[in-house]
Amino acid sequence: MPYLRLAIPSPLRRLFDYLPPDGCDTDSLSPGTRIQVSFGRREVTGVLMEVSDTTEVPANKLKPALSILDQTPPLPDTLFRLARWSASYYQHPLGEVMSQALPVLLRKGEPCEYAHQHLWRAAQGASIDQLSKSAGRQRELLQLLLEHPKGISTDAIRAEGGQPPLLKKLEEKQLAESFEHKPDHPSHQDDPLHEAPLTLNPEQHHAVEQINSSQSFAPYLLQGVTGSGKTEVYLQAIEAYIRKGRQALVLVPEIGLTPQTVARFKARFNVPVVVMHSNMTDRQRLDAWLQAREGVARIIIGTRSAIFTPMKQPGIIFIDEEHDASFKQQEGFRYSARDLAVMRAHHENIPVVLGTATPSIETLHNARQKRYQWLQLNQRAGNARPPEFELLDIRQLPLQDGLSQPLVQQIRHHLQQGTQVLLFLNRRGFAPTLMCHDCGWLADCRRCDAHMTLHRKPLHLHCHHCDSQRPVPMQCDSCGSTELKPVGEGTERTEEALIKLFPEFPVIRADRDTTQRKHAMQQIMDKVNQGDPCILVGTQMLAKGHHFPKVTLVAILGADSGLFSADFRGMERTAQLILQVAGRAGRADHPGKVIMQTYHADHPTITSLVQEGYQAFAEQELNQRQGAQLPPFIHCALLRAEANQPAIAEQFLGQLRLLLQEDILQPQGIQWLGPFPSPMEKRAGQFRAQLVLQSPDRKALHQQLQNLTHQIESDPNSRRVRWSIDVDPIDMF
Ligand code: ADP
Ligand code: ZN
Ligand code: ZN
Repeated sequence: MPYLRLAIPSPLRRLFDYLPPDGCDTDSLSPGTRIQVSFGRREVTGVLMEVSDTTEVPANKLKPALSILDQTPPLPDTLFRLARWSASYYQHPLGEVMSQALPVLLRKGEPCEYAHQHLWRAAQGASIDQLSKSAGRQRELLQLLLEHPKGISTDAIRAEGGQPPLLKKLEEKQLAESFEHKPDHPSHQDDPLHEAPLTLNPEQHHAVEQINSSQSFAPYLLQGVTGSGKTEVYLQAIEAYIRKGRQALVLVPEIGLTPQTVARFKARFNVPVVVMHSNMTDRQRLDAWLQAREGVARIIIGTRSAIFTPMKQPGIIFIDEEHDASFKQQEGFRYSARDLAVMRAHHENIPVVLGTATPSIETLHNARQKRYQWLQLNQRAGNARPPEFELLDIRQLPLQDGLSQPLVQQIRHHLQQGTQVLLFLNRRGFAPTLMCHDCGWLADCRRCDAHMTLHRKPLHLHCHHCDSQRPVPMQCDSCGSTELKPVGEGTERTEEALIKLFPEFPVIRADRDTTQRKHAMQQIMDKVNQGDPCILVGTQMLAKGHHFPKVTLVAILGADSGLFSADFRGMERTAQLILQVAGRAGRADHPGKVIMQTYHADHPTITSLVQEGYQAFAEQELNQRQGAQLPPFIHCALLRAEANQPAIAEQFLGQLRLLLQEDILQPQGIQWLGPFPSPMEKRAGQFRAQLVLQSPDRKALHQQLQNLTHQIESDPNSRRVRWSIDVDPIDMF
């Protein structure tokens, strides 16, 4: 009797056996097939891992599966293997990983096929003259249909400013008709380009040539200074694959924040480009996913989770801004899409390119070890020159709302000369907290070991760690005084100060609070790119690859606090952020200047970064990491636990460590650190602790992690805590 062994989305790290449904031919089933089963009291979608001749489940406990959902497994074999590999690498339950590798609708058991898309087109022979002059909006709508002879969806009509309800009117007059459409493969006769590519400079040319010379797996680090034209390299490298009928996958940090990138791909290529991100409906995502799987979409641009998007003719993978933290999922299945991309390229035997101006120390290490081929663009593209960097020492200077007098003068100078200023401050809200001037009380969050941020628009206190909010108190909680004052600056306060200082110029704020609405970022970009003098003030979202041709001055405030972070990656993050923000200055014909206000103008990290550039900084950082035996010279995993009472999580981790260390069968060469309370011990009402495991030997570390999960799962005490494992953590908190 064959048994179906399934991965089922559940926190349990094991597989589940079922009997085949009646009349099922188990010989025809391939691993990866979705199978509907009842699981506890629920009906769930499992994924077949194998058909087995034996089972350990007693016969009376075995249930038949309810139905087989697929003729062909949704994931191609390479991705199925990638998902299986990543479950074991990241120590996450296989069933949950298999499920997360699929679009939401497939997890819910929907058929793996396109929704029929309804499109509209003008009826044969229809013309505007058939509508009376007074029916203005109907005429506009018909005009739109005439411009799209292959059909247009109601969503697209709305996006173009047309009014879908009027379609019925046109249909009644037999001027318009709807039809069902199935996306088509692009015809090979069509020119794959809409527009001619730019003429590459010698460095870009070399990079494209190298990338296109590989016919098989080859990882590249494309390290190009900001404004060096990395995107142009992507575009031209991809062109070669498109001409060969292959597909390209491009992962970017956040699509909503970088609409320009998608626009450049669509403008260049005359082939279907699909976008995959979290702001789409489940149906839109499934359709895009299927178009990629069927080979209809030739270019797929997506965020982290798009790494599991199948391609029928895989050609090449790009990770843009590979250093960006958003590629690592920070909860549940804690995978790194960047690292999985390299593994995927290996499975699919294709090249993969990691592009950035500021490579992560891990990636740089791989390039230095010659595991990745290292391509460099050291010149800015076109006529742009590197910006001039100035450290503005504010130790002796009075500050008004965080701004020094020399900085204000520089801002005035650039505005008067008719260009734009970008001011970076990595704190949103009005002020980091509120303080009582009489007793020193601070507005702390009741659920976290953290201060609450003061917001003015609308007025409230907000904890950025647990999201709790409360009204601003009139009196001090502790002494009753009414002398409550904001401490420090956030973007709202800086915006307010700038409006007062420069009433004749627009001040545009870009942070999470002003960009929540759909298209808000696009609107901000449009406003800035009109080119009139203005001040753009905002948080790190301004560091993400934007191209503002008229920005000549970038001012950086408060970036040096990152130098003293308890996380060993603090320096690396700070350096990347400073250079990425600085990279927005002088990207076109106008020379750029960067001014960094700092209390640490002679800090060696800052000076080497500013005088010698990222590479010098990174080499120093690599040496320090090697000396201190930190990643990437050692492999690391973090076991976190939390409970709603103090001390429980830490005790739990302590017992675990004792138990495992006593066991003589343990692998050698593992170093344990902790347990200790997390740097922010209390967060959202939970008390948190952590235990670090590290080893120069990846195999030993993974074996230890397996023992660890096994131990926790068989320990009834573990139910008193919530725990998780983070392999290759990028955030030590
Ligand atoms: P990066 O991503 O490296 O910061 P971009 O790809 O955004 O840089 O390029 C910066 C600007 O330079 C863009 O406006 C781009 O169109 C332009 N550019 C890129 N390559 C060339 C080239 N070979 N010749 C002229 N302009 C170029
Ligand atoms: Zn007080
Ligand atoms: Zn909080």
